[in-house]
Amino acid sequence: MTYDVVVVGAGPAGSIAAYECSKQGLTTLLLEKSPLPREKACGGAVMYRGIRILKGCLPHALVEQRIFGLRFSLPNGIKSEFISDKMIGITVFRDRFDEYLAKRAVNAGSELMENTPVVHARTSNDSALVRLKDGREFRSKFLIGADGVNSVVSRSLGLRPLRKDLTKVGLGMESDFYVGADGVERAMNGNPSILEIIPAEDKISYGWIFPKREHLAVGVAGSGVHMRALRPIFDRFHKKLEKRLGIPLLLDKRRTCFLGGDGLGSENVADRAILVGDAAGFVDPMMGEGIAYAMQSGIFAANVIDNALQDGRYDATQLSEYHALCRKEFSANFQMAAWAGSKGTSFAEKILPSVNGYKLASDVMAMIARGEMGYADIPYVVLKSLPRQLPHILQQVILSRILSSH
Ligand SMILES: Cc1cc2nc3c(=O)[nH]c(=O)nc-3n(C[C@H](O)[C@H](O)[C@H](O)COP(=O)(O)OP(=O)(O)OC[C@H]3O[C@@H](n4cnc5c(N)ncnc54)[C@H](O)[C@@H]3O)c2cc1C
Repeated sequence: MTYDVVVVGAGPAGSIAAYECSKQGLTTLLLEKSPLPREKACGGAVMYRGIRILKGCLPHALVEQRIFGLRFSLPNGIKSEFISDKMIGITVFRDRFDEYLAKRAVNAGSELMENTPVVHARTSNDSALVRLKDGREFRSKFLIGADGVNSVVSRSLGLRPLRKDLTKVGLGMESDFYVGADGVERAMNGNPSILEIIPAEDKISYGWIFPKREHLAVGVAGSGVHMRALRPIFDRFHKKLEKRLGIPLLLDKRRTCFLGGDGLGSENVADRAILVGDAAGFVDPMMGEGIAYAMQSGIFAANVIDNALQDGRYDATQLSEYHALCRKEFSANFQMAAWAGSKGTSFAEKILPSVNGYKLASDVMAMIARGEMGYADIPYVVLKSLPRQLPHILQQVILSRILSSH
């Protein structure tokens, strides 16, 4: 049988793409290397932009915490906090969240095969073909490579650089620590609806504490080139945190993974094939956020393939509409994040304290997380809301002057 679409990888990108393809009536096969639920190195913070894609269908039991704000602890000891009255995201356990998305694709009509690692992919004039580890082969009109940061599909098709450039990819390690609901409350200073970002060491890597219901997700990440000694960096961060929080953080399992980057700077489409999510390198190069981009790129890929099928076209030129859609939606955010990331922590140390406490800053942060604006819109939104915010800004300036004169 020739499927309309074979999707390789049942992470958020692949499962959303498969769901959308099935919804459009395309025969869709979703191939996943591991048995589900499978673990994934991830802090588990899903920005509201991603949840919105699910149109309110996420089961309550999957939501660990509803998130309303961000707290940055800076290397100079200063803290900046941005809290919104709107929800900016949630935290989840990735194994359960991803399993739910895969089941959702199955309910929409996709055929799911777990425990089926794809070892090779190729495309020709008349079809796309994937070969499994056990030798079986599947044919389709289109192929979606959603197999994460070490994508076999991308490598087989020669789409992205074969060797990882450690200056362009990130590397991270994380773990979930059981501390009970009280421990979460204490660790998050009484507000478990905040994601906390903390410098790890040497100003080149950053760490995080993300609250779950009874666990803390703790991790470190940074540019691959600086994270070669990943495990000692993580272990020192873990010990530092344990001391700071005064709560025993019993280490169960460390998980590690590359964070794809440079998604818009390389080829993501070929004849009959599209890469999505981490396979395409769609990760915020500063914060390492990738789930919402993975989900959105899955939708774009499914729509572009549906249009191509209707037009009876299978070539890369037809599919390049996908690259254009991703560029339009992601490029301003990625460029800005790459620029800010290249400044290391000095950018955060300069900017964050100077906007701390301004409602406008919290509003902007919330709008970005909710997908209501991108980084490139910041100057416009700030200028537009200045007249309304002016009294509050003046009040803040006067207050900070008074405080600094004492
Ligand atoms: C330490 C760390 C922390 C992170 N924290 C966050 C965070 O808090 N929030 C956020 O938004 N992003 C975070 N990210 C990034 C985020 O995890 C990824 O961007 C996201 O998982 C991308 O989704 P995906 O579906 O493209 O790929 P994945 O989630 O990696 O899914 C790929 C799937 O393909 C399967 N697969 C792989 N190879 C094959 C094969 N050969 N055959 C068949 N199947 C295959 C895998 O088993 C997997 O299920 C973090 C990343 C790291 C490394």
